[in-house]
Amino acid sequence: MKQLFSIVIFLAAAVSAMAAGRDSYTVIVSLDGFRWDYIDTYDTHFLSVMGRNGVRAVMTPSFPSKTFPNHYTLATGLVPDHHGIIANQFKVAKSGRIFSLGNDVARDGKKYGGDPLWLTAKHQGMTSATVYWVGSDVAVQGDHANYWRDYNQKPLLTPDERVKEVIKLLKKPEDKRPHLVMAYFEQPDSHGHKYGPISRPTRRAMEYMDSLMCELYKGLMELPIADNINFIVTGDHGMTYLSPERVVPIKKYIKSSWVDNICNDFPTLLYCKKPEYVDSCINALKNVDHLRVWRKGECPEYLQYGNNENMGDVIVLPDLGWKFTDGIVALNSGSHGFDHTYSDMWVAFQAIGPDFKHGYQRKETFRNVCIYPLVCHLLGLTPSPNDGSLDEVRDLLK
Ligand code: AMP
Ligand code: ZN
Ligand code: ZN
Repeated sequence: MKQLFSIVIFLAAAVSAMAAGRDSYTVIVSLDGFRWDYIDTYDTHFLSVMGRNGVRAVMTPSFPSKTFPNHYTLATGLVPDHHGIIANQFKVAKSGRIFSLGNDVARDGKKYGGDPLWLTAKHQGMTSATVYWVGSDVAVQGDHANYWRDYNQKPLLTPDERVKEVIKLLKKPEDKRPHLVMAYFEQPDSHGHKYGPISRPTRRAMEYMDSLMCELYKGLMELPIADNINFIVTGDHGMTYLSPERVVPIKKYIKSSWVDNICNDFPTLLYCKKPEYVDSCINALKNVDHLRVWRKGECPEYLQYGNNENMGDVIVLPDLGWKFTDGIVALNSGSHGFDHTYSDMWVAFQAIGPDFKHGYQRKETFRNVCIYPLVCHLLGLTPSPNDGSLDEVRDLLK
């Protein structure tokens, strides 16, 4: 009787472990600026085969389609207005200091709201690892993943070393092995900016990333846990061409006496010196072609943007490919940050593994806030409150 009782207990524990996904692993890779159509434009043999054998879809970023806001949205399932990283650069209302990529303000964990995946996992007793994912190298909630890499510590691991690092993490003994690994790569964004989305250097960058993803997948498939790994390759936003001919000069419209700070380009956030200058800025810009302009709190609802406490007093959003600047725009250069409903801003999503369908190409886009509930589901984690929905991506699963 006693023996029967322990077998029942053991089976119940095993079933609950399986239902909780505790024997499951998720490796999620972000290729910065991985535009949704690069797979068809370039010779990304591995990623094409991965999509044909697993799942292929197109994901829409959150607004603004920038690196910091969207990586942290992927991690938390919250849109930027809700997690607080509203742009790559913004002014912090309380201190008046500027948050900017890599500076000390951007390294203050208190600026990062929500519950990123690596902490959702860790705080539910699951080992997690990050390799440079935005936000993972600052002490969000005063904590980090069990294994993490500091983007400020140079030299950074090369892309090839990052692939080896992921494999090394998954080769750890079972009690130390992470079940969630999130890894970040700068390409093809870097070349997309410098040479434009459709260019030979961007082709080379994308094809190199494809070969690295192939190497990573082969490495994963050689592990004893191969059958339990869900592997996702996606990104933060797309890329579009800029032009020296598509510029709206700031100085022509905005007096320097009206504003304390001008942050970013897509969108441009204007922080005004006095409340009355908000009207001055709006009136100066409201009839300018190729720009849209809103007061804080008055952006259209679909952007889910503009109410955060650190938002600029005025938000200026150029049309696709246009720039509101006094700087120089190089010929054939590229950028992103625009309205996330433009297809140039959309992102590729490929996934393969035991929980994903085989050979399924989804026709409709899904929102990147759904990655958080999706990964929680794959790992059997209870998600924290988020803006996504597992139902929106359930068709990707078996
Ligand atoms: P974007 O201007 O939106 O294209 O931002 C891309 C840049 O973000 C890349 O060039 C990276 O160097 C930078 N970046 C990515 N992750 C981090 C990080 N954790 N800390 C600081 N900068 C980062
Ligand atoms: Zn990016
Ligand atoms: Zn970029």
